[in-house]
Amino acid sequence: MARGIYPEYPPDLAGPNRQFLIESLKDWSIAHGLAVRPPASFVSTNVDPEGVLAATAPVTLFPSLFPKSCFDEGLRIQLAYNKLYAAIARDEEWLVPIIEEIAEIDSFVSDLLKVHLADLSLGLFRSDYMVHVDPSGNSSKPGIKQVEFNTIASSFGGLSVGVSALHKHLLAIGAYPPETKCIKEQDALPASRSVPSLAIGLAAAHTEYSPSTNNPSCVIFLVQYPERNVFDQRHLEYRLLETHGIRTFRLPFDRIAQDTELTADRTLLYRPPHAPDAPFEVSTVYFRAGYTPSDYRGPEDWNARIHLERSRAIKCPSVLTQLAGCKKIQQVLATPASPHLARFLPDKTEAASVAATFAPIYPMDVSEAGRQARTLATDPEKAVHYVLKPQREGGGNNVYRKSIPGFLEDLDESAWPAYILMEMIEPPAQRNVILRNGEIQKGGVICELGVYGVCLWRHGGEILKNWEAGYLLRTKGDQSEEGGVAAGFGAVDSVCLV
Ligand code: ADP
Ligand code: MG
Ligand code: MG
Repeated sequence: MARGIYPEYPPDLAGPNRQFLIESLKDWSIAHGLAVRPPASFVSTNVDPEGVLAATAPVTLFPSLFPKSCFDEGLRIQLAYNKLYAAIARDEEWLVPIIEEIAEIDSFVSDLLKVHLADLSLGLFRSDYMVHVDPSGNSSKPGIKQVEFNTIASSFGGLSVGVSALHKHLLAIGAYPPETKCIKEQDALPASRSVPSLAIGLAAAHTEYSPSTNNPSCVIFLVQYPERNVFDQRHLEYRLLETHGIRTFRLPFDRIAQDTELTADRTLLYRPPHAPDAPFEVSTVYFRAGYTPSDYRGPEDWNARIHLERSRAIKCPSVLTQLAGCKKIQQVLATPASPHLARFLPDKTEAASVAATFAPIYPMDVSEAGRQARTLATDPEKAVHYVLKPQREGGGNNVYRKSIPGFLEDLDESAWPAYILMEMIEPPAQRNVILRNGEIQKGGVICELGVYGVCLWRHGGEILKNWEAGYLLRTKGDQSEEGGVAAGFGAVDSVCLV
């Protein structure tokens, strides 16, 4: 790391120092909404039947060390990534045939593909990376490799502002001991701007929408219910109201049919259950649900999705944008010497910066590359360097390393092409301390940088807005393969640039 190596980081805290830090952290986090609803395993529903309690979100006690050059690069290339995925989502001719191949096997993807298309689309994206050091040793300079690109329900933009502010607060009150010099370097702790920046994106869509009725207008947050990560979403809602004067409503996915209707000109009206006679015209539907098969209980929920997709409301994301986020698309883009990147990013320098973040990813089909991947994935010695991913979001769906051969053995070969095989990125070792559900865990950790992007475009037309929208660091114990904060392994974190 550029400014030196820090073997003593983070410092060992004990006794009153440790107590001071943890007490300050707990109070600051609740006072500032860096919180989640506690899991039932932590507070039983007998104790809290109405669900009024909140707990500190899983957080790291210290910001994790992160190479400044990698951080700057991640933020810099977000504009190119936004353009790339907006271009893919507009290019049905390119996208649909690739998706159709998977849709033959994967019924969730096939059901998504049947849903209608949109006019204006909003993307609130998050591109996720890990730091990678070339193992061949030719260059010790770290770079970033992309884990995945999220086009739907990219979460933690609300909490990431909180955790970077929390770490700055702990620094300001002297909770970090004097030997943590790296934290005290100027600009070592960049603030995350994701809440204001993502909210401006939603507000831009809202403003761009042309209303067709005289009803008041609103943005719908389409959500799962109940939602433990509700405060992450609430931060965006409060910002929309307080800074932009925009009303938002939380619509559980299974209430779409009851609470909304389409007029003859495809205007989407929302009738709040507490005031059904005063409908709102929906400018934008922001999906924080609908990304996973379990959100769709049956045909009625698919009809509900079609109903939203058919409406004039701006979708964040449209179904094509959601499909562009399939891991299959990432694999197709990452194919060495493929012509695809140039199709979407004609600027060669821009395309090269994006391509530099691709890790090796292979298809699992019967093409030449697919056959090679099948050989790797079924060989117990080679498979340990890979992760096998289906076309799913939200964590908990991948198959890692030594589990891959056995998993494939139990899976009919005709289903293999619905997966992609990706080389594991092995970030440099470091340590941190995580507080989750009142428990403190200390040890080796792995960090994943997420960079948010906002992009608003006309389907088949130009890009109206495009910006980088702040960052998130998620950190997990190095023994855990999945990194989901919500799924139960990770914590939200911020960067200490070195
Ligand atoms: P999801 O869409 O479910 O979040 P991801 O592709 O992000 O799926 O995988 C989930 C987690 O698995 C990541 O957050 C990361 O911790 C780990 N992971 C995925 N791909 C890789 C990889 N190539 N190298 C290292 N870890 C990975
Ligand atoms: Mg992920
Ligand atoms: Mg994802």
